Amino acid sequence: MKTKETNQLFSKIFVDGTAVTNRIKYTILQWAAATVHFILIFIFASVGVYSMVVFNIASTICYLLCGILVKKERYILFYYIAFIEICLHSYTATILVGWAPGFPLYIIGIMPVIFYMHFTLDESAGLHESLLIGLCCLMTFVVCKLISYRIEPIYVISEKAATYIYIFNTFCTFGLLLFFSLFFLREIQFSKSALEEQNARLDKIAGIDALTGLYNRRSMDKLLNNALNSGKTFSVIMCDIDDFKKINDSYGHNSGDEVLRRISSTVLSLLRENDFVCRWGGEEILILASNTPLSGASLVAERIRTNIEDMEIIFDDNHIKCTITAGAAESTEAGSIEEIIGLADERLYCGKKSGKNQVVCE
Ligand code: GH3
Ligand code: MG
Ligand code: MG
Repeated sequence: MKTKETNQLFSKIFVDGTAVTNRIKYTILQWAAATVHFILIFIFASVGVYSMVVFNIASTICYLLCGILVKKERYILFYYIAFIEICLHSYTATILVGWAPGFPLYIIGIMPVIFYMHFTLDESAGLHESLLIGLCCLMTFVVCKLISYRIEPIYVISEKAATYIYIFNTFCTFGLLLFFSLFFLREIQFSKSALEEQNARLDKIAGIDALTGLYNRRSMDKLLNNALNSGKTFSVIMCDIDDFKKINDSYGHNSGDEVLRRISSTVLSLLRENDFVCRWGGEEILILASNTPLSGASLVAERIRTNIEDMEIIFDDNHIKCTITAGAAESTEAGSIEEIIGLADERLYCGKKSGKNQVVCE
């Protein structure tokens, strides 16, 4: 339970929509940088390296002023200033107090940050810049090591002091790496779930007819195959609007579209929850009546036909009346989906030939 609560809290802080904006993230970083340099003022003062005290006073002021950049959302510029400051600090500290206190560790800490920033802030800018920064970090680190190898530090500080400073620097560096690793992880998870949601939405849209909101043929094919594989008896009803061309010609295409929409919603409203309807073609609607024998499908089709016959569609001041003809077939009458639908189509055709506005089941 505790783990779940902690996790929820974590999610809230780190992920929840805009909970952690870039502003908050980089403000934390800016204050952390200022604080670390502020502490270093006292550390250097305690070991008597006063030029580094002055350096760190300047750095602290610099990071406090970086707050302006963060407010203006100039995060990358803030990074470059921090990058230059850390490189200069590493060179100077190595020359003055040597390699032992571990100031060049910060260079390792800031290296992955630029990759993270380009990933989250400006995807178009990119890899080249990050790689260049990475290369500069490597060079600075190696050059600092060479400096410490070639020249003796100007100030000699005790091994004990150097070790404690090293530990302090290690904590700060790991803190920085941990901070960005957590954000990186959470942001990847966040984009992954957003992508999954979007895919599910797109998948749903891809299976729906835009005009009527009914399933389209692609979805219906799957549903029909599922019904056939289930081995249970089902029926299909193929409906076609009578003289639809005349409706278009008399009232206009928009009115035709409205008729299609109204008929579709009427059909939907007259079916059970586990029946499915799709727009099979232009003005053809196919119904899959699950677990329904032909006798049941005949009743459903007749109910739909009479409802549509009684309906009056008012659109653009026109009162439009229309009818449908339907042909139904049962799954046991044929072996494949194509054959079952073919049978329903044949019956629909018979209905059209013998006067329209009727349901044919045999
Ligand atoms: P029948 O009674 O024999 O079915 O005659 P019909 O006029 O309904 O059939 P026909 O196949 O001659 O014409 C179908 C018309 O449906 C032609 C086509 O322009 C129209 N149609 C197809 N899709 C749409 C659509 O999305 N919107 C509109 N408004 N009309 C459509
Ligand atoms: Mg028609
Ligand atoms: Mg037709």
